[in-house]
Amino acid sequence: MTVLHALSALLLLTPAPGSPSPDQAPPDAVQPLAYDVSLSSDSTGARWDGRERIVLRNPTPATMDRIWLRLWGNGVDGCAATRDVTVSAFEGGVPGTPAVGCTAVPVHLNRSLPPGRTTTLAFSLTIRVPERADRFGRVGPYAFLGNALPVPAIGDDLPPYVSNGESFQTPTSNFLVTLDHPAAVAVPATGTVLTESRHGDRLTTRIAAPLVRDFAWAAGPFGSVTGQTSTGVRLRTWFTGEVTADTARTVQADVQRTLEYGAAQYGAYPYPEMDTVIGGFDGFQGMEYPNFVLTEPADLPAVHETAHQWWYALVGNDEYRHPWMDEALAQYTSEKLLGTPAYCANAPFWFDPGMRVDAGMDYYAIHPDFYPPGVYGDGACMFHELESLIGPDAMRTALRDYLARYRFAIAEPAQLRSAFQAVTTTDLTAFWQRWRNTAD
Ligand SMILES: [Zn+2]
Repeated sequence: MTVLHALSALLLLTPAPGSPSPDQAPPDAVQPLAYDVSLSSDSTGARWDGRERIVLRNPTPATMDRIWLRLWGNGVDGCAATRDVTVSAFEGGVPGTPAVGCTAVPVHLNRSLPPGRTTTLAFSLTIRVPERADRFGRVGPYAFLGNALPVPAIGDDLPPYVSNGESFQTPTSNFLVTLDHPAAVAVPATGTVLTESRHGDRLTTRIAAPLVRDFAWAAGPFGSVTGQTSTGVRLRTWFTGEVTADTARTVQADVQRTLEYGAAQYGAYPYPEMDTVIGGFDGFQGMEYPNFVLTEPADLPAVHETAHQWWYALVGNDEYRHPWMDEALAQYTSEKLLGTPAYCANAPFWFDPGMRVDAGMDYYAIHPDFYPPGVYGDGACMFHELESLIGPDAMRTALRDYLARYRFAIAEPAQLRSAFQAVTTTDLTAFWQRWRNTAD
């Protein structure tokens, strides 16, 4: 509870530009979890050791005796002899045998948790960042720590890790994270730095990230440029040695115009800061986290990942079962800024009878070649056609209403579709059927 109180006080006492204001507070039904994490790195930022504490709440109507921790950092290497992420020395529960390729650890709670009540779980944590140009990986002296922190699963729902998309679904939380690292290693991260204290050649950086559904960071000798949006959001853009400061400023301009567009079109980006880390990655161009994106130095990924601040970060969704909800909306938003592709005139394209805009990652993991055209291609074209059908004003109203209603929560497909039906007299049933987007 101390953590929650400290964060509440922080929110009340430091109304920095763009901070969540009372009218932007989460709906009553959204009750953030609280994390208090303290980690110390080796001399390069490739290994982190420390302790994580989570104040959990039982959101279900039944008493809980067990929760699952997701160790997504083990998603690629699985149950290797030396695991990338390990947890031990539990307080509040007893860990069981890891499952789902060592990405899930059951924790049997010391005391049963009645509905609506909270309990605290704490454990020691070791993160070894594998050598891999990935969202959780390192390249030379640069480490990227996406999905590295263990997070509780929502109930007993345990989707597997997928490399070509996302399996993550996490509740909105308040994070306090203390990173102890060499002073020469920068640590761009979700949230805002509260304090930095130097001791010898090391720095202790204390970071607060209220009302976000995940916490990611990077570590390395990054260069940086800074800026500010017209809405007062502080921009920090970090880049590796292969990227110039001029390129970083171009990427930062993409992030800035996306943040300004999203705020004007959909509703506020209710945080004081946005961090962009520019690197080179294998197999993907960028990756979204709250207040923080990884991107290659190019317009499309920079804009797309920033658009995810509304679709994924503010309005959450089950990324494994309903990848179209955040991906197609983020891509549609990107194309509002970068231009609608000509192929939308002939979409949708179905390359397989099972291909659907609303197919889950269970389908797209088996058919990875259909994932970009199905979810990003057809999915975004679907929203462009919807806008033509109902008109731009109704489109904007629907998305503003959807954001206002589900901000900080997790939305379901029918809720997104009904946001559009609510603003038009046109029956959209046939429209959704044509785009193969009807599943719950
Ligand atoms: Zn995306």
